[in-house]
Amino acid sequence: MKIFQCSNCKNPIYFENTFCEKCGNSLGYLFDAEEMLSFPSKETTVAHPDTQNTLTYCANHSLDACNWLVSNTDEESFCEACETNHMIPDLSFPENKLDWQKIEAAKRRLFYSLHKLNLPYVFILNNEKLELSFDFLASDPNKPNAVKTGHANGRITLNINEADSVHREYIKEQLSERYRTLLGHFRHEVGHFYWDALIKPNPKVLQEFRRLFGNDTLDYGQALQKHYQNGPPSNWRERYISSYATMHPWEDWAETWSHYLHIMDMLETAYHFGLEIDPDLKKNTNLDVSCDFDPYEEVSMRKIIKHYLPLTYVVNSLSRSMGVADLYPFVISEPVIQKLAFIHKVVQL
Ligand SMILES: [Zn+2]
Ligand SMILES: [Zn+2]
Ligand SMILES: [Zn+2]
Repeated sequence: MKIFQCSNCKNPIYFENTFCEKCGNSLGYLFDAEEMLSFPSKETTVAHPDTQNTLTYCANHSLDACNWLVSNTDEESFCEACETNHMIPDLSFPENKLDWQKIEAAKRRLFYSLHKLNLPYVFILNNEKLELSFDFLASDPNKPNAVKTGHANGRITLNINEADSVHREYIKEQLSERYRTLLGHFRHEVGHFYWDALIKPNPKVLQEFRRLFGNDTLDYGQALQKHYQNGPPSNWRERYISSYATMHPWEDWAETWSHYLHIMDMLETAYHFGLEIDPDLKKNTNLDVSCDFDPYEEVSMRKIIKHYLPLTYVVNSLSRSMGVADLYPFVISEPVIQKLAFIHKVVQL
């Protein structure tokens, strides 16, 4: 992600900030311009920097769940990210509200990436509308597993207990996962949506998909059962980004897609920080790279990966310096690079 700056005092700010720590101004994000606007905290509106239209906060700002700006001054109007919500949990329970706020924050990062990739959220396929939307649901305490995180026909469902870090860490250990985050969930599930929109309806693309990911007509229920009974094949690291990706070609796609978004976001961040990797090593290694290009503008996935791998070595080393788990605990094999290159090509079509 790019770095933002308070336009009033030039203080660097995060995408999530609602006010500037230095000058006290209010901050609001303008989705179409990918800019953070700064305005006096006593004002409720700010002018669009290009059109001069009046902007105000998204309706979810009053619930501490959004810092985006909308051009409609109607109090009920939602930003591009919030208006995709179909269901949100009952906010009269304070714990639901806290979970939901974390979920919305992660979702806005997803939308930032989708905007960078110029990916639409609505498709018309065979005269039918396929539209991205979200259900954030709380489980009935008597049936804690009734709400399943997943995707169907454009709707992404997320059990809000995934926002609870204790619960999430517990599931992560149970499933022997190396990574489990809210943003990761969004990036994975939205992969299923874009498979339906970009791969399934396009015979030529589908053919290439099958060559790389396998036969998607495999029975999903049987594949799921087999995966949880037998586990992944022992050599899965040679061809897959995660063990879950071995379950079915759809899951391989969604897992690889989520990594595609991780890679693009990480490298974009490194680019905006002007990161240069010049390790103090005796021999020349392929770790010497300068992250001096915007990956969203780069055609070659090979070049992106060539710069990304040294970056993972740096961030994992920094994680270890802090005694925490590796930030990117994955190995990207050659078959995975080919899958990533296919995704990179498909999103540019
Ligand atoms: Zn400021
Ligand atoms: Zn919003
Ligand atoms: Zn999935």
